[in-house]
Amino acid sequence: MFHELPPIKDQLKKCVRCGQCRSVCPVFREIGTENAAPRGHVFLAGLLRDGELAPSAAILAKFNQCLLCEACSRDCPSGIAVHEIVAACRAFLGRFQPGLKTWLFKNLWTAPGNLNKVHKAARFFRQSGLRSLAQSTGLARALAGELAHGDQLLGDLPPRTALQSLPRQEIAEPRTYRVGYFLGCATNLFGAATARALIRVLNYHGCEVIVPPNLRCCGLPHYANSLPEQARALAKANLQVLAGLPVDYIVTDCASCSSTLKSNLYRDWDEPELEQAAQHWQDRIYDINAFLCEKLELKPLKENGASFKVTYHDPCHLAQAQKIKKEPRQVLKSIPGLQLVEMEVQDQCCGGAGTFSVFQHDLSMKILDRKMNLIQKTGAGLCATSCPACAMQLKYGFARAGLPGQVVHPVELLSRAYGLD
Ligand code: SF4
Ligand code: SF4
Repeated sequence: MFHELPPIKDQLKKCVRCGQCRSVCPVFREIGTENAAPRGHVFLAGLLRDGELAPSAAILAKFNQCLLCEACSRDCPSGIAVHEIVAACRAFLGRFQPGLKTWLFKNLWTAPGNLNKVHKAARFFRQSGLRSLAQSTGLARALAGELAHGDQLLGDLPPRTALQSLPRQEIAEPRTYRVGYFLGCATNLFGAATARALIRVLNYHGCEVIVPPNLRCCGLPHYANSLPEQARALAKANLQVLAGLPVDYIVTDCASCSSTLKSNLYRDWDEPELEQAAQHWQDRIYDINAFLCEKLELKPLKENGASFKVTYHDPCHLAQAQKIKKEPRQVLKSIPGLQLVEMEVQDQCCGGAGTFSVFQHDLSMKILDRKMNLIQKTGAGLCATSCPACAMQLKYGFARAGLPGQVVHPVELLSRAYGLD
């Protein structure tokens, strides 16, 4: 029942309507109406709960105008997790989602391996000339604007996905830890270089790395798109794999994956084996930056006369959701010659938010333009970030603004500095 869901039952009543959340909300900054503000979402959720507002596609559209960036939840003096309220309302209104979107999430976007088919189809679409034809005739936009936006955002797809090109196991001796690499869907699709860098850097620090073949999507896209049951099913499938996985830690390069995997452990699992597995993994799932800084000692690098500027974009699911801000900077600062130039508001959302940039494209682009202005002001030619979805959005931002900059994961820069590429 909707009104029994914890964010609805326990949190709505705590809102004192102070408006603090409005000042940090990237969506409210662009739209400027109360309905688009976090406080407005809390108010609408209360009306839905009390039956004073009829469920409809129009109301779902209001809740879909949220990045789930957690900036409001971070700053709310009453401790309200506004993003959880928004997700609960989306779940309640899920029947109003377009059928095709729901079908794609349920049937295709369930595991990195399944997305290999999308990768293959997207490359065929481009290489066969169909893409040029669709663009020149405006057919792509006419058929499905969201598909056209998705195609633009994907940028240059590497010839092979990470899953197709990574070894299943890399052994380093002497061994420090045995690490399971959680290869997320986005890194698999267009971040093979990041995946290779992560494995090389971990090997260099004495870690044996395995890539468990049967892990599924972390479930965040489903949670964010009105499909809580699918998100739970994926979380359960992953926990069943983790329960028997002979590794010391799980490490990932994706801020959203580490955040979701961790929060999935705190779900109410009604099977003793799953409860036990969830408890076991509570301190064993790591973002790669945090893992390098907390569990390993970064090997020192010699000065080499190089000098280059890098700025760093904080992914919301790392900075807000996991409070991991200093570790990526520590990784970057360990690289000789790297001058870290902070942008004015480092943790302002880039507007990517997974599928938000596809389904709320125009709004996403306005938020992205603000971010690109901040990046441009730093004068850095490289922007580092620790999330493949942010990286995709920022790469598109550079291309869209006609700027020459590049976007990289900190672990890629580290791998280059160690001469591992
Ligand atoms: S900051 Fe929190 S208490 Fe204040 S209006 Fe927003 S949700 Fe309500
Ligand atoms: S999660 Fe982000 S986008 Fe959504 S209401 Fe809060 S601040 Fe705004």
